[in-house]
Amino acid sequence: MDFVTGLRCRECGRSYPAEALHVCDFCFGPLEVAYDYERLAAAVSKEAIAAGPASMWRYRPLLPVDDPNPIDLGAGWTPLVRADRLAAELGLRELWIKNDTANPTGSFKDRVVSVALTKARQLGFKVAACASTGNLANSVAAHAARAGMASVVFIPEDLERAKVVTTAVYGGTVVAVRGTYDDVNRLCAELTSERPDWAFVNVNVRTYYAEGSKTLAFEVAEQLGWQAPDHVVVPVASGSQLTKVRKGFAELHQVGLLPEPPAVRVSGAQAAGCSPVAQAFADGTDAIRPVRPQTIAKSLAIGNPADGWYALRAVRETGGALAAVSDEEVLEGIRLLARTEGIFAETAGGVTIASLVRLVQQGVVRPDERVVCFVTGHGLKTVEALTGVVGPTATIAPTLEAFEEAVGAELDADRRTR
Ligand SMILES: *Cc1c(COP(=O)(O)O)cnc(C)c1O
Ligand SMILES: [Zn+2]
Repeated sequence: MDFVTGLRCRECGRSYPAEALHVCDFCFGPLEVAYDYERLAAAVSKEAIAAGPASMWRYRPLLPVDDPNPIDLGAGWTPLVRADRLAAELGLRELWIKNDTANPTGSFKDRVVSVALTKARQLGFKVAACASTGNLANSVAAHAARAGMASVVFIPEDLERAKVVTTAVYGGTVVAVRGTYDDVNRLCAELTSERPDWAFVNVNVRTYYAEGSKTLAFEVAEQLGWQAPDHVVVPVASGSQLTKVRKGFAELHQVGLLPEPPAVRVSGAQAAGCSPVAQAFADGTDAIRPVRPQTIAKSLAIGNPADGWYALRAVRETGGALAAVSDEEVLEGIRLLARTEGIFAETAGGVTIASLVRLVQQGVVRPDERVVCFVTGHGLKTVEALTGVVGPTATIAPTLEAFEEAVGAELDADRRTR
């Protein structure tokens, strides 16, 4: 059963068939998947969802592709962990971490890729392609391998080693481009007309790709016992995830899974070295000025964000805010989350945690709120960011004396204070 009625322009509302289309012919506005919510409301139930797989595909009716065998490595249904130690440090009452580092290729991108490639296969595409800041390439290469599709992924040449290795290992074509992500993206936009038989997950099938992010909201609500949180903090690269998280909460009410229209405040997190959306928020303007990224948070380094304006509007309309944090704060954020909760996040996660800290200090995130923070990529992807920041406490000769001298006394003192 398919509940998709077609595609609709987000600007002028014109309708299109559910094909590989992403912009409106009339106004160049982005297209969005449209559903029959009335029929969906009659078809979905908490019980049916609970009986579904332990993956994002438990929400299949609310996703834009009807396929009983999706291209699936097990993305989604990641842990939502109550973060009491971190909450205590920040003076919050109720804080949760949505731990999307636990996805098959270590980032939230598995959600969007699983949807995009399943739809692409249904539309007859044989080649999976993408413009990536790293994690997307990783996920596309893995899911294409799983599906027996060819993959061609494009990345900026200065990516972290781990992201290149964990992409190339799947045996697809990996093209490193001398330029920024925005250069890579422009090249891929040109290539989509040259190679109409390639599915660029974030270009010509972006409309379907974007829908995968809604599952973050679905899972959070279900894991909280079918309740919406008061405030979410979401990392912003293109702005797609933030926009769709908001849409996801709204849809749960539209199909009757949440009794009230949820009033979730949505805040965004960016690195100061690439913060065009946060800057527009701070300036109180609608104009997002493209920037040239300069930050260790490479997975968020999109200088000209495709959905930036929609993310900005979602933040403003829900009473959230956007923070822009320095690379030093990013490293502190990574260590804070690791030290308090035992979760090791990549630099994008450091951006989100550091932004949470900032928003608490500013009084935007309030102590009485139920807060959910999206931690979207695994720390092993960006270990070099911490080189020279963390390492052995001591390096010693293999003798008792050397141990006692180096750390023994300190450890005894530390234990007495616990
Ligand atoms: C891609 C990505 C995001 C968010 O990307 P959007 O383009 O804003 O949807 C967040 N975190 C990580 C780790 C990512 O790779
Ligand atoms: Zn239009």
